[in-house]
Amino acid sequence: MKISRVTAAAESRPRVAVLHDALQALDTHGVCRVTVETSDGVRGSASISFGRLGAAPAILAHLINDELAPAIVGEDPFLIRAIREKLWRLTDYHGTVGLGLMGIAGIDIALWDLLGIAVGQPVWRLLGACRDRVPTYAMVGWLNYDIEALKEVCATAMGQGFVGVKIKVGAPTLAEDARRIEAVRSVIGEDALLMVDANQVFGFNEALRRGRVYQDLGCYWFEEPLRADDTDGLARLREALAIPIASGENNYGRRQFRELFERRAVDIVQPDLRRAGGITECMEIGLMADAFDVPYASHGSGPHLHVLAALPNTLFMESGLLPKGSSVRLVDGCYPLPEDSGIGSG
Ligand SMILES: [Mg+2]
Repeated sequence: MKISRVTAAAESRPRVAVLHDALQALDTHGVCRVTVETSDGVRGSASISFGRLGAAPAILAHLINDELAPAIVGEDPFLIRAIREKLWRLTDYHGTVGLGLMGIAGIDIALWDLLGIAVGQPVWRLLGACRDRVPTYAMVGWLNYDIEALKEVCATAMGQGFVGVKIKVGAPTLAEDARRIEAVRSVIGEDALLMVDANQVFGFNEALRRGRVYQDLGCYWFEEPLRADDTDGLARLREALAIPIASGENNYGRRQFRELFERRAVDIVQPDLRRAGGITECMEIGLMADAFDVPYASHGSGPHLHVLAALPNTLFMESGLLPKGSSVRLVDGCYPLPEDSGIGSG
């Protein structure tokens, strides 16, 4: 079996209801769809999504179609790591991180989908699963929601059976952050988990000042308190606070993650499947984290579910609200694994 064709196609449209965190306004529904086909007619696919930068899906599709795809046509699709190394060497000249690694991730996820379809199994079985379901929380508390909307969406998430909710922090004042946390706690109850996410917006002193309050309010973790590349700052903050520090959704590739672990910069690691480099890279990052006794909580869901099923140190999957009409039922706060071949509905 050989790879015969690799194609990428982009779509982008404005989001009607713009979502805000402390750093970004998510104003776009963008996606770059990657398809890998083999000489004997097996096809795998993946989607790389974008919440802003409307031109990005088309730029990524251009990079995949004109730069990455020609390099791997004719390769054996089972040699996923060989393909990844080849694409790393190819893109190193202009930088593998950023869109380059998102392109490699798209091809990697599509290859895993293809292999699962070729052998008639869901990807989590090929990865060597540790569990048959994954504990999941809901990221629902956007910063532009007023307190009533925040309470309502968090109550809906708890009604759907999630283990807890995450809300954005980094409001103009700490008092406002605290009011929002207390309001959410009043509707989710004392036992549900409540995570807070600052999306890299604080400097060290402000992160320390606010982190002490989030900690006293019983928040479960403090996510991206500082810039993702401020490894020293994260390590110092982790020493100074009792609340667990979570970060990783803006780190690229296993070598950036190795630095986070070696410098003891995070209590919980949160790779993003697109930015970290796909299923292969996330498995390696997760196993490296396990060797450092760092739990793994995904940034996002989708095909990441297969990785979370297979890692020994999985803590949680991050999800949004289940869409209306979804056939998924959470049991004991856990997301079920798909039985479809390949990536399936995961
Ligand atoms: Mg986050």
